[in-house]
Amino acid sequence: MRIKLVAGNWKMNGTLATNQALLQALVPALARVVGVKCAICAPFPYLAQVQQLLSGTGLAWGAQNVSQFDAGAYTGEVSGAMLVDFGCRYVIVGHSERRALFGETSETVAEKYAAALKAGLTPILCVGETLADREAGYTEPVVAAQLAPVLAASGAQSFAHAVIAYEPVWAIGTGKTATPEQAQAVHAYIRTRLATHDAAVAEKVQVLYGGSVKGSNAAQLFGMPDIDGGLIGGASLDANEMAVICRAASPAS
Ligand code: PEP
Repeated sequence: MRIKLVAGNWKMNGTLATNQALLQALVPALARVVGVKCAICAPFPYLAQVQQLLSGTGLAWGAQNVSQFDAGAYTGEVSGAMLVDFGCRYVIVGHSERRALFGETSETVAEKYAAALKAGLTPILCVGETLADREAGYTEPVVAAQLAPVLAASGAQSFAHAVIAYEPVWAIGTGKTATPEQAQAVHAYIRTRLATHDAAVAEKVQVLYGGSVKGSNAAQLFGMPDIDGGLIGGASLDANEMAVICRAASPAS
C-alpha cells in the first residue's frame, strides 16, 4: 500500500510573523496524525525559518522551484544543493503557474526534475491540462506530453524517487475541484502510462491530486484508489484546514 503525502504549496505568500503563527498551530494539530507524510513547500527566503520550526517535528519541507543548473553565473537562480543545505526534502517542479507565467516548457521542467534528483531532492512533478484541453478531449495527450520529456531524460525508474501531482489547471485556485471520479481517471491514466515503461515503479509512485482541495472535499478525493494525497495551495495557508486535510489522508481516519 502506498503511504499518502499531503504537501502544502504556500506559493508567494507569508511573512516571518504569519509563517511562525501558521507552523506553531499546525505542528501540534498534526502531532497525533499517523500513517501520512506531511510537508510544506515554502518560498526560498523562508526556508531557514521553516527548517528551524519544523526540524524534529515529523513534518518535511521543500521549495517551489529549483534551477536546472548546478552552480555558477545564473543570477537569481537557486540550485538543488542550496535547497539541500536548508534541509529540504521536496521541490515542486513544473507547477502550472511556472509553466504559464514564467515560460517553463516541459523540456525545462525535465531538466529541473533531473537537477532535483541529482541533488538528492524528491521532485514533485506537476502535470495537468487547461480547461480548453479538457473540453477538446485532450487531457490524456497533454499529460502524456508533459511526462514524455521527463521519461526521456531521466527514465521511468527515476519515479522511484519522485512524486507526481496531477493538477488540472482549471481547478487551481478557482474553487472548482475535479470530481473524485475525474481525478481518479487521470491518476489511473498516469499510472498506466508509466507502467508501459516500468510496472513496478508505476505501482509504487505517489500520485497526488491538486486543485482546490479543502477540508470538506479531501476525504472523498483521497478515497479513490489511485489518489495518494494532495498538493494543497490556498488551504495550506490555514492551519486548521491543512490539519483536516492531513487527517483525511490518514489510514486511521
Ligand atoms: C497549487 O497551487 O498547487 C494548488 C493546488 O492550489 P489550490 O489548492 O489553491 O487550488
